[in-house]
Amino acid sequence: MANFLTNLFGDQNSRDLKPYLALVPKINELEPAISALSDAQLKAKTSEFKARIEKGETLDALLPEAFAVVREASKRTLKQRHFDVQLVGGAILHSRGIAEMRTGEGKTLVATLPAYLNALSGHGVHIVTVNDYLSRRDASWMGQIYDFLGLTCAVINHESSYIYDPAHKEADEKRDEEGSFKVAYEFLRPCERRDAYKADITYGTNQEFGFDYLRDNLEYTPESLRQREWNFAIVDEVDSILIDEARTPLIISAATADSEDFYKMFAKIANQLLAETDYKIDEKRKAIQLTDVGITKAEKLLGIENIYTDRGVKYVHHLETAVRAKALFHKDKEYVVRGSEVVIVDEFTGRLQPGRRWSEGLHQAIEAKEGATIQKESRTYASITYQNFFRLYKKLSGMTGTALTSREEFFKVYGLNTISVPTNNPIKRIDQNDLIFQTEVGKFKAIARKVKEVNKKGQPVLIGTVSIEKNELLSEYLKREGVVHEVLNAKNHEREGEIIAQAGRLGAVTIATNMAGRGVDIKLGGKPSTDEDYEKVKSAGGLFVLGTERHEARRIDNQLRGRSGRQGDPGETQFFVSLEDSLMRIFATDMIKKVMGRFKIAEDEPIETSLITRSLETAQTRIEGFNFDARKHVLEYDDVMNLHRKTVYERRRKMLVGSDEDVVKDLMNIVDENDASVMELIKAKKEALGSDFPSALRRLFLQTIDMFWVEHLEAMDYLRASVNLRAYGQRDPFIEYKREGLMLFKSLQISIDSQVVKMLPNLGGNSIELKPLSTVESDAKGILGNDAAVSSGDKVGRNEKVIVMKGGEEKEIKFKKLDSYLRDGWTLKK
Ligand code: ADP
Ligand code: MG
Repeated sequence: MANFLTNLFGDQNSRDLKPYLALVPKINELEPAISALSDAQLKAKTSEFKARIEKGETLDALLPEAFAVVREASKRTLKQRHFDVQLVGGAILHSRGIAEMRTGEGKTLVATLPAYLNALSGHGVHIVTVNDYLSRRDASWMGQIYDFLGLTCAVINHESSYIYDPAHKEADEKRDEEGSFKVAYEFLRPCERRDAYKADITYGTNQEFGFDYLRDNLEYTPESLRQREWNFAIVDEVDSILIDEARTPLIISAATADSEDFYKMFAKIANQLLAETDYKIDEKRKAIQLTDVGITKAEKLLGIENIYTDRGVKYVHHLETAVRAKALFHKDKEYVVRGSEVVIVDEFTGRLQPGRRWSEGLHQAIEAKEGATIQKESRTYASITYQNFFRLYKKLSGMTGTALTSREEFFKVYGLNTISVPTNNPIKRIDQNDLIFQTEVGKFKAIARKVKEVNKKGQPVLIGTVSIEKNELLSEYLKREGVVHEVLNAKNHEREGEIIAQAGRLGAVTIATNMAGRGVDIKLGGKPSTDEDYEKVKSAGGLFVLGTERHEARRIDNQLRGRSGRQGDPGETQFFVSLEDSLMRIFATDMIKKVMGRFKIAEDEPIETSLITRSLETAQTRIEGFNFDARKHVLEYDDVMNLHRKTVYERRRKMLVGSDEDVVKDLMNIVDENDASVMELIKAKKEALGSDFPSALRRLFLQTIDMFWVEHLEAMDYLRASVNLRAYGQRDPFIEYKREGLMLFKSLQISIDSQVVKMLPNLGGNSIELKPLSTVESDAKGILGNDAAVSSGDKVGRNEKVIVMKGGEEKEIKFKKLDSYLRDGWTLKK
């Protein structure tokens, strides 16, 4: 069956590849003529192409010529000629696909092809990398190609932006030598963010592109907008960005004043609850469930009768969060404590993520548990999931070494087809079978022995671990065996890149978390290396990659393996696993454990049984499925919000950059034209303010929209939490969320409109000035007074009574009936 599927898929892939392979001879045919051009003539091609696009020629039609031109420019600048398979990859990227190309195939160079072609349209191309360091590296490295052809190239980083500037040529040779792991800063000149976005090609991380989008939607003047449009994005390491990172949405928030004691109280209570009796842990779903016993205990500790009725959703939420913090989040695994701060450890890379915080009070709960400083609870001003951010782009594409196992998700969520591109050279890497040990200690002992043995031959070893903590532990074992090694716990990506680039040196032993230095390529013999070094390492068998635990996703394991055997080099990979690894603990069946028990083998002696290997892969496939579902779930909910966000942001943008007429028209749409006093007021304001009238109106709209939007985000958050609590009977929480979300959204729009009308008499007065949202917010409360309840529907329990009115009639009904009454033309009495 499996074989049948691979064949079927293999056929599918070769069918998908066909049209792209067909382009290669067309591009190659052009090479002699293009190589004959002078530098100036080659550069002139760019303006020629632009003119042809102006006249209606399509990018598709231009592709062969444009690719040939980029290849020629690369030959002359970088001294690298795109391989044919790189042309194939480039063409896939151009036509909204995911190009699966193995590590070391040169994807950085591949991206230059579609980037150039698509930038010719003048609408800008974004190349998305996994970290700031790589965006600088790639721009300073590839920038020479774009620059040679007359296009601009820029970088956006966390707190800085740069434009590629070829001013300092003397660094050139060094860059071509070291460009794959060192940033040639001589070529990057600091610039305004806005200018970085104006460049033809902009490199940056998903996080920065996404945050800039959100930040722009908090701005009050058109000049402060950073981004111009979302035309074409090429996402490097696309699985990492569109899948792994897509679980955490981007959130812009600021602190509010919620009391620390609150969190301390719940941490204390959680501390007194016991696993199994008071709460159950579901490791698979990373969730906990309080039992009745646990809830009663908590109620006693809180000194209340019934937490649900006495205190409500907020308390239940905090109680659960405190228990989650205790049961599922472990120090030095999911997070570390640095000084008085709790810092997240990225579960995929094992890297610290300072500045990032878990949301919905989880971070505070962990701070309380650790006795760290509890930061103020924050208020969300803007948020979006990566899925919905990347859907903003007219055209999206991606590349990575490992996409096929997530093919379905790429297609279902992003509409991207995955195509696997053949390697430039045949693969020589040998992937050995897993070795399975009964205990983790036994496994580590065996690893240390194996490393010592491999190291004796001079074969370089890269050891991949799942966490920084394991790095340290393993390092101890290696020390005991007397193996000299490097531990990669790098605090920054750049340093990490430099170390990992040397992991292929003769006799090198490097311990690193699985994805440390992702994107930096490991050359045999190190970098720079002599032919002699290279040959020595090659004859020792190339890079030996030793995995110390299977990851939840097969993709991540394949990434680690992919470090070895680049461009047809020899190489070897092997995973060492134990029954105590979390994957095995959670998923290995009791049957296997019994079988293992019966073997009576020393703990550091491996067992190879196909039963266990198979069950490992089944476990991985199952977790991948779980995680896909979890992300789908997040996305389903965000899709509801997305509609709201788009509508509100569109209106906001119109207020910011639209014409004066549009702004005034918007006002006329929301006022009652038969209301003489309002019309009179508008007329008077127009006369009094003159040409300032539209701009005063813009500010009023912007502030009002923002204020209610923030409230709306909060209301939707509560709604989300409460629909889950209500999930009993036949009610589907998601349907409830959608239905009530729509009501909240309608009332948001009504609130904005009526607030603007209500504020008209103050237009142009002191009460409305230009201020950042956070101060606007507190002021706004003052301006609005207490009667400005945000919306009718929120924060009301489903069985609570509300009063509705129609004609002269009033009626008391349950909140859950409200919707049907509203549809019959009743209105809510405040
Ligand atoms: P990937 O991202 O696919 O893992 P990189 O873009 O990091 O690969 O490139 C790996 C190495 O291959 C780099 O050192 C790069 O200079 C080299 N390389 C890529 N393409 C070519 C080419 N066409 N000719 C020569 N070297 C190349
Ligand atoms: Mg790369």
